[in-house]
Amino acid sequence: MVAPTPYIGLSDSHKSTMIAQTLGGNVLAKLPVVRKLGALRRSLARYRNRRETIALVPTMGALHAGHLALVRLAKRRAKRVVVSIFVNPAQFAPHEDFSTYPRTFAADLAALTALKVDLVWVPSAAEMYPEGFATKVIAGGPASTGLEDAFRPHFFGGVATVVAKLFSQVAPDIAIFGQKDYQQLKVITAMARDLDMPVKVIGAPTMREKDGLAMSSRNAYLSAAERAAAPTLHRILKESAAQIKAGKPIAATLTASRAAIERAGFEIDYLEARHAETLALVASVKDGPLRLLVAAKIGKTRLIDNIAV
Ligand code: AMP
Repeated sequence: MVAPTPYIGLSDSHKSTMIAQTLGGNVLAKLPVVRKLGALRRSLARYRNRRETIALVPTMGALHAGHLALVRLAKRRAKRVVVSIFVNPAQFAPHEDFSTYPRTFAADLAALTALKVDLVWVPSAAEMYPEGFATKVIAGGPASTGLEDAFRPHFFGGVATVVAKLFSQVAPDIAIFGQKDYQQLKVITAMARDLDMPVKVIGAPTMREKDGLAMSSRNAYLSAAERAAAPTLHRILKESAAQIKAGKPIAATLTASRAAIERAGFEIDYLEARHAETLALVASVKDGPLRLLVAAKIGKTRLIDNIAV
């Protein structure tokens, strides 16, 4: 992939930078990179005036094939596709990896250019949270079910607030989120419904490496040995789902599965079977549809995954 080169002199009035990707000297496409809210609104107004539908794909960058699958789905579902890249400080606790989170902006732009995305929204932290910013969204329901929220208590407040802002900034007709972050998908869906946000939230399937490991920007943290052990998470999820489907009691299945995950070198935060929509506790398959959700650390890296039963 060829690194994008800045294209100077276009859309200055909109304070956007055009990125041109060249291959063999030919300009393939130009990708507007918008960093200011005023410029974003002007660009989007052009789409709206033409009655073109808009899809938003929110990301924190460090794009991989999972993100790009969301973009492809967005392209099938709307005329215009906006991808946001914002590493949101509000969803990281002080001890978490905000400062070291992978940032691969040039490669991200090259990938989005190749996919012919219409616009990339890249606000700075100061643009997103200007001096005096004081309003937060408190997510409930699926956000307080004792899964991610029990281990990252600040997380869904930060996510819900920034996604509410992105919805307000972009006013998309649809927004695409990955099932990889299953609880997040349910939290955003509930927020949009509860706050009457006129956006359709769509969940996209998890993209995996060949060995089953869910693609994640954080997989870059894994050492070779950790990377070799990491697919255990998905393998155990699959086996557990099959056993539960076949009638093995949930509690016994999960006890054995937790032990297997620990044997592979993980420290488990949770491995649970929950109601697939509400994420409420379940006692048996009769309480379904069910979803298995796991979060576990290997070395310093925390991985999450989930699967339908
Ligand atoms: P992130 O940049 O990690 O915040 O992710 C941005 C979006 O991409 C979220 O909606 C994620 O759920 C989604 N996503 C991340 N990894 C995957 C994956 N492996 N498959 C599908 N979607 C993903």
